[in-house]
Amino acid sequence: MTATAAQSPVTTLDETGTVIAGRAVRVRFAPSPTGSLHIGGAKTALFNWLFAHGEARRQGLTGTFILRVEDTDRNRLVPGAEEGLRDALRWLGLIWDEGPDVGGPAEPYRQSERTETYLAAAEDLIAGGHAYRCYCTRDRLERVRTEQQARGEAPGYDRHCRALPPEERAAQEAAGLPSVVRFATPRDGETVVRDMIRGPITYQNVNLEDLVLLKSDGYPTYHLANVVDDHEMDISHIMRGDEWIPTAPVHTLLYAALGWEMPAIAHLPLILAPGGGKLSKRHGSTAVEEFRTQGYLPEALLNYLALLGWSFDASTELFPPERLLESFTLARVSPSPATFDYAKLRWFNQQYINHVISVDDLAGRVLPFLSGAGLVPDGPADASHPAFGQVRELSALLKDRLETLADAPEHMRFFLVDELDPYDPALLVPKKVEPLDALAALEAAGTALAGADLADEAGTEVKMRALADELGLKAGQLFMAIRVATTGRTQSPGLFATLRAIGPERVGERMARAVDALRRHGDEVVGADD
Ligand code: GLU
Repeated sequence: MTATAAQSPVTTLDETGTVIAGRAVRVRFAPSPTGSLHIGGAKTALFNWLFAHGEARRQGLTGTFILRVEDTDRNRLVPGAEEGLRDALRWLGLIWDEGPDVGGPAEPYRQSERTETYLAAAEDLIAGGHAYRCYCTRDRLERVRTEQQARGEAPGYDRHCRALPPEERAAQEAAGLPSVVRFATPRDGETVVRDMIRGPITYQNVNLEDLVLLKSDGYPTYHLANVVDDHEMDISHIMRGDEWIPTAPVHTLLYAALGWEMPAIAHLPLILAPGGGKLSKRHGSTAVEEFRTQGYLPEALLNYLALLGWSFDASTELFPPERLLESFTLARVSPSPATFDYAKLRWFNQQYINHVISVDDLAGRVLPFLSGAGLVPDGPADASHPAFGQVRELSALLKDRLETLADAPEHMRFFLVDELDPYDPALLVPKKVEPLDALAALEAAGTALAGADLADEAGTEVKMRALADELGLKAGQLFMAIRVATTGRTQSPGLFATLRAIGPERVGERMARAVDALRRHGDEVVGADD
């Protein structure tokens, strides 16, 4: 078989992140298109990207981040999943240098298009005595498993076909029976996996199984395809989730059997659910796509995921992507699992909305959520949208109240609709104020606001405070009545900034309607007393 890229010394950065051989860093994210991108997968992609585009490039090495689609398990394929994975990665800003859509020197990057390579490797292994054809039927394997269980043994293949005499093997072949190819795992000795994060892990070969490498449908299993491709694609460092640790000894042995040098390998710490265990749907959202629709910023999600296993120091928390690229080192990735905390993620999101991104940027990101709620017309998510100016003003006013972009419609609604949602007119009567006095106050405030320049917030406030004095009310009482009249709520950002953003026309209309509503309400109340 032919290697597509020249092999050269593999380990480029040692565990402390120091260059030990001047060789390009090539890493890959290798998802299977069986569903949406899970945040655990996103974290793996992120660490690979940071290692190649951050740590390696900072050291003057070429750092290449590759997307490889591992689609050889044909039964688990989900139509559209590959596009979904790519969209999610792109949304996160984890842009690959080589991959199925952009090509590259080691193409194709979809395993289903590389099957001949795996067949060739399987044949090489058989020829070298490192693998064998197995003709065992499903029924037989099932029977073996039941017997093992009955004897209290760990279930596993009993290596029946490994010892088949040549005549019997020839007979099976002549009969054209379906077969798989299994790895002839060494029966003695030990295998050491040198994990860059965890250090050496030693396995006794006698405990390892003769795993299937090639299935009867001619497709490779994960083990064969993964090893062959990492070699063919000249991967320098394997960085993957630690659920794959149990496969590492077999992969190590496969490299040796194929006569290839193994890339450096690191297993990234798992993300645990709050309270322990694997993070799954029942704890909350787990797919990147869901966080996107819930109004999380990709930068906030990346920042949070980076800190699930990596730290810069004991205190720094805010790492926008550029800063992650400047700061990330594999040496500071911990082997301990990290717990996913939804509240902490929300905190990060709020920080990004309120402090990290610009108001212009925020307005652009809020627009699709507002158009989705029917509050502004559909249009480009940038300054060319007809509502951009107004949404920008609202973003500046409300950014400290938004935890997610999806909160925007609720908070911005009363600024953008012609008619307020119905509210209880009783709210127009401040505490300790008689309804008739409240009515008079609202009328007077409506007149005063009509004559005020709302763009001058301070000036409007001075006027309204003077009016409250005149009416014998506390400023807070009058302000509450105006707030309810103009927003339909008892809470809003600063009243005068709110009035300014609502604009004089709507303020005038809403004050007039409030007066009418309170008058009708008063009549009803009086009527009820009669
Ligand atoms: N296809 C495997 C996955 O879905 C890749 C594991 C690896 O990176 O080796 O995660």
